Amino acid sequence: MPLTASVAIFNAPLESFQLDTFRISGLQPQEILVRNEYVTLCRSDLLTYLGKRTEKTPTLLGHEIVGRIAAMAEDAPQSDLLGQKLKVGDRVTWAIFASDPKSPMAQAGLPQKADDLFKYGHEAITPESHLHGGLSEYIILRKHTPIIKLDESIPLPVVTIINCAVATVAGALRLAEDLTGKNVLISGTGMLGIIACAMAKAKGAANVIALDINPQRLELTRQFGADYTLILPTEPQHLSAVAAEQLGQLPIHTMIDFSGAPDAIENGLELLAIGGTAIWIGSTYPQRNVQINAEKVVRKILTIKGLHNYNGQDLISAVDFIQKHHTVYPFERLVHSGFTLDQVDAAFQYAIENNPFRVGITL
Ligand SMILES: [Zn+2]
Repeated sequence: MPLTASVAIFNAPLESFQLDTFRISGLQPQEILVRNEYVTLCRSDLLTYLGKRTEKTPTLLGHEIVGRIAAMAEDAPQSDLLGQKLKVGDRVTWAIFASDPKSPMAQAGLPQKADDLFKYGHEAITPESHLHGGLSEYIILRKHTPIIKLDESIPLPVVTIINCAVATVAGALRLAEDLTGKNVLISGTGMLGIIACAMAKAKGAANVIALDINPQRLELTRQFGADYTLILPTEPQHLSAVAAEQLGQLPIHTMIDFSGAPDAIENGLELLAIGGTAIWIGSTYPQRNVQINAEKVVRKILTIKGLHNYNGQDLISAVDFIQKHHTVYPFERLVHSGFTLDQVDAAFQYAIENNPFRVGITL
């Protein structure tokens, strides 16, 4: 077993990361030590760095990670979520969370809200627990972490986005239920929105309509399955009219919001056809309240659902989707590679200044 791990510690917003070395003291029952290979900076990592969301500190950020099993406690799980045998050397992805599968929340399909929830890339460094983020050479996967062994032929940046972006989108599409023949509006075409275009198409959507304020991103959605694109006009209250003009009589059966922008959410509700479903994912930071006309919701028989993070089933769907579609859609284009752990400050600066879908760090 390795004895030390290089890490980049986050102490406070906008401060340089502290490059350090942690001792790997040994594994607790059921734990698995993973040699992290690659991490992508998720939007929430950037918001934490900028001080727009609060995290326990000091911490190791990074939760969109992939790595290889380096050591396993004697009683560690011998197989993954799919029943595939696990051994040292296997490349694996894992859920952002660890929680007791017997807890009432986990039993209700919401393990990401269980009382004993532990979230990788979101926990404080303590003497007892310190290797739990992606900006580190090693991570310790604690007991009750859903793990899946990966196909080695898929490029690293593509498998890395599975355990936050792709799995969260898989959760959104689980809530959307059967999309066969439906017209789906994807609002906000950052990393999650663009993956959602491809996944909705793969789930049989008749038409995928992408909505954003950024014309370059919208253009790219066409390579990920979008049939129509809608640029949000400067005055969002005109969106319905613009949509009607561009989409004609195309009824919107499902709208999934990844933007978190109240204007987009309100307009999405306006655009929904009778019996439509709105799924809200992007609202994970403080915003003004959304205005809803309850009579419209009632008369149009609309359904509104929210989702935060994802469950083990969504992780399985995410891995399955990437394995089947990684050659169909150019996912690798979404990740700007080229940084190493000692260049972490430059990686964050690049992400903030250039706003690519993801910045990747080789570990
Ligand atoms: Zn994330």
